[in-house]
Amino acid sequence: MGIFDKFSKLAAQLNQVRALFGGFNVVIEKIISPTEAIVNGQKVILAGTNNYLGLTFDKACIEAACAAIRAEGTGTTGSRMANGTYHSHVALEQELSEFFGRRATIVFTTGYAANLGVLSTLVGRDDLVLLDADCHASIYDGTRLGGVPVYRFRHNDVEDLEKKLRRLREKNPSANILIVVEGLYSMLGDRAPLADIAHLKEKYGAYLLVDEAHSLGVLGEKGRGLAEEAGVEDKVDFIVGTFSKSLASIGGYCTSNYEELELLRYASRPYVFTASLSPANIAAARAALRIIRERPELKERLWQNAYQLYGRLKELGFELGPEPSPIVAVRFRQPEKALKTWYGLLERGVYVNMVLPPATPGGEALLRASVSAAHTPAQIAAISEAFAALA
Ligand code: PMP
Repeated sequence: MGIFDKFSKLAAQLNQVRALFGGFNVVIEKIISPTEAIVNGQKVILAGTNNYLGLTFDKACIEAACAAIRAEGTGTTGSRMANGTYHSHVALEQELSEFFGRRATIVFTTGYAANLGVLSTLVGRDDLVLLDADCHASIYDGTRLGGVPVYRFRHNDVEDLEKKLRRLREKNPSANILIVVEGLYSMLGDRAPLADIAHLKEKYGAYLLVDEAHSLGVLGEKGRGLAEEAGVEDKVDFIVGTFSKSLASIGGYCTSNYEELELLRYASRPYVFTASLSPANIAAARAALRIIRERPELKERLWQNAYQLYGRLKELGFELGPEPSPIVAVRFRQPEKALKTWYGLLERGVYVNMVLPPATPGGEALLRASVSAAHTPAQIAAISEAFAALA
């Protein structure tokens, strides 16, 4: 047995896709704007990014990143615990604390590292984690790294959550139970029923962590996410998120009213044993956070685009995620059909994400389209028409 033999099933699947379409590893040859790129020599509309507010090319973000590189260099070359904590990391942590109205914030090198760092450390072997089955891989991986007992409830199913919470509480009257959900789910674009979940958290004396990766800048009057929109921020103990979506940069954070969160800096391996965020990433995220505060019209434009695309694809008869949102998931029961549609869209100049099992909920195939505040109405119409041609 060779060391790569374990991948033979994966290799066979890849070969099948290559035989059909000559491969699906898309390389962006040139990026033109938040919504346009050159792929296979052809101009395409980017309709699968997480660039919700379209800020990757924002002048203020670019200027801030360039100024930071000139002032502080291209990288920190060290962990936050060694030589990698700069004034700008601390400033961003303070700005996030102010933005969320919380006492403590820790910035991590990615959103993945934030979930890994928080979940592997905050919960110990005597604690329990109860998570939504559709939670992101980084949440699962964090609990694995910590070796903590994990229980799952059916996606967005409040009754199932209560059943499991009740059982866990009866068996473990004094254990710490951490419920983990996402604000807006990354694959189907649906919201967690957060008011109900927050109510159950109180009822059973648990803690609540919400990953707002896809909802920062997208939900809530001030853009603080689903906890703000649902009016339950005071019941959410920990918010985790990323800079790689609305904030148009790279990085992650956890914010909380528990000042003891600070202790994680000394205990969390994904915080201690990796290099800190580069000055440019920090500066771009800080500039984007200011824009979320100052330009609420971006969120409005994002939602106009979301309603327009969701409405049109629904009209065309596509099976979509349960509610309109900037993530418009087009569901296929047969992966081959998803592949064909994905390829057909690319030929028509529209680049969406193809997501195949096991990365998809329920084992189905998805084309994950997403909109940005930077899409023009004409681009949204062009995306819709490309889908219409393949309906
Ligand atoms: N949480 C969720 C819900 C996500 O969707 C993602 C990224 N897709 C992450 C965390 C990880 O974020 P990052 O890209 O910053 O590592």
